[in-house]
Amino acid sequence: MDIIVLKPGTTEEQLRHIIKKLESKGLQANVSKGTERTIIGVIGDTSKITEEEESVISIMPGVEDVMRILKPYKLASREFRPDGTTINIKGNVIGGKKIHVIAGPCAVENRTILMNIAKKVKEAGATFVRGGAFKPRTSPYSFQGLGEEGLKYLAEAREKTGLPVVTELMDPRDMEVIQKYADIIQIGARNMQNFRLLLEVGNSSKPVLLKRGLSATIKEWLMAAEYIMSRGNHHVILCERGIRTFETATRNTLDLSAVPVLKKLTHLPVFVDPSHGVGKWDLVAPMAKAAVAAGADGLIIEVHTNPEEALSDGEQSLKPNDFKKLMKDLKPIASAIGRSI
Ligand code: PEP
Ligand code: MN
Repeated sequence: MDIIVLKPGTTEEQLRHIIKKLESKGLQANVSKGTERTIIGVIGDTSKITEEEESVISIMPGVEDVMRILKPYKLASREFRPDGTTINIKGNVIGGKKIHVIAGPCAVENRTILMNIAKKVKEAGATFVRGGAFKPRTSPYSFQGLGEEGLKYLAEAREKTGLPVVTELMDPRDMEVIQKYADIIQIGARNMQNFRLLLEVGNSSKPVLLKRGLSATIKEWLMAAEYIMSRGNHHVILCERGIRTFETATRNTLDLSAVPVLKKLTHLPVFVDPSHGVGKWDLVAPMAKAAVAAGADGLIIEVHTNPEEALSDGEQSLKPNDFKKLMKDLKPIASAIGRSI
């Protein structure tokens, strides 16, 4: 038994009673209250529960159904929430009909550049602004980000544009400062299996954008999401950003088949980051279009007013005008599959 589905109208007292029962068996309850139904994810070694004990639980007041999930990820599995998860961030509903676009520079470089980019992406129709203040650079000599100063500029950009902020957390020691400024906490590809970091954001109430690791299988990626969810934070967004293959024509190989695969396996929203996926600005638009057609719930796109001078990822950044054109071109694709952008 891995999931307990409660009847509509189950009382708090009945819920407490069920939780107590689980705890008496050495298990923990991970309660997820949806709009229509409350579901309990049973955490711990559920194989120790006998069939008899399971049938006792199945007739407790408030219990509608008990289910076993054979997959190693339980809270992240589609069975846990068949209708899909929606996440409301300051009125922006992720995982619904509308496709959201997170846009902005790879790194926050200075105040003027960020304000300019934020204004431009907002005008073009982006619904979130991005920018790294702590950057996971391959070389220790490359620009590492502005730290809290960068976060302050992001907060100012949010104030000026109304766009909520997405920014990366690299180290549990920066959790407090990131929480102060971010609306969505990004976990980068290089940290997808940094389990301590995952548990840390699992304790947070902020939504988490979990990028796919450079060589991670979909199963490993879902297990990383499970780490976060096991701490009670169910607001996880998965982001395909390309994987390592033998191909060198693109920076990574953007695995768009991950989108429909994930839609089957999990209820979590799925985003695609074509910028890091291909690594070349002129390939971003076609892959962004393909991602929308494949059913992505959102995109992350790097935009810079002067890509030639960018301190990181300039070669894959779109200029504001190209971004604007892309946003326009995505509209008919979204509507062809019954969505909006
Ligand atoms: C980024 O979004 O700028 C980034 C570093 O992404 P990834 O972790 O996917 O490489
Ligand atoms: Mn980048």
